[in-house]
Amino acid sequence: MKNSGKDQVIAYIGLGSNLENPAEQIQSAHAAIAGLAGVEELAFSSLYHSSPMGPQDQPDYVNAVMAITTVLSAMDLLRNLQRIEHEHGRVRKGERWGARTLDLDLLVYGQQQIDLPELTVPHVGIAERAFVLYPLYEIAKELLVPGKGHIAELVKNCPLNGLKRLA
Ligand code: ATP
Ligand code: MG
Ligand code: MG
Repeated sequence: MKNSGKDQVIAYIGLGSNLENPAEQIQSAHAAIAGLAGVEELAFSSLYHSSPMGPQDQPDYVNAVMAITTVLSAMDLLRNLQRIEHEHGRVRKGERWGARTLDLDLLVYGQQQIDLPELTVPHVGIAERAFVLYPLYEIAKELLVPGKGHIAELVKNCPLNGLKRLA
């Protein structure tokens, strides 16, 4: 299913991993997303290192953010991201924010605000998460996050929480 009129939409995807060589998981997911039919890569941030949210008895995370243009609907994009998570060995274990080989979250989809049972856009945590905001700001300095505000303001109001950009 394509979005109406096959318009290109600019979307941002947050990538995270803390199991089985996280940096490799992120690079492999990057390639898989770039290779999706109906998706063109615009930009990819540096890799970042972050402390886990929620349960603390798990390894630190590697995070990044990718910008794309796409003719896929937001739901079709989500389904593709979930398939890529699955192909990277993502196992859902019930525990919220537990360790995982790959997490792909749809952060922003054009200027749309979506509130469906399986899809909330912009992503619910976007304004509070340093590991999302700082890489996003790196590749989208003028982004307006629908319902939340200008990325520069969001970054200014979000402490780094130990986030480190990897060389
Ligand atoms: P969080 O969403 O707080 O970052 P998480 O990424 O660990 O936590 P998941 O287990 O990956 O959560 O996803 C749980 C559900 O979230 C999925 O089944 C999916 O349908 C739903 N979901 C809602 N909005 C989004 C979104 N914008 N991007 C990805 N998944 C979403
Ligand atoms: Mg997530
Ligand atoms: Mg997720």
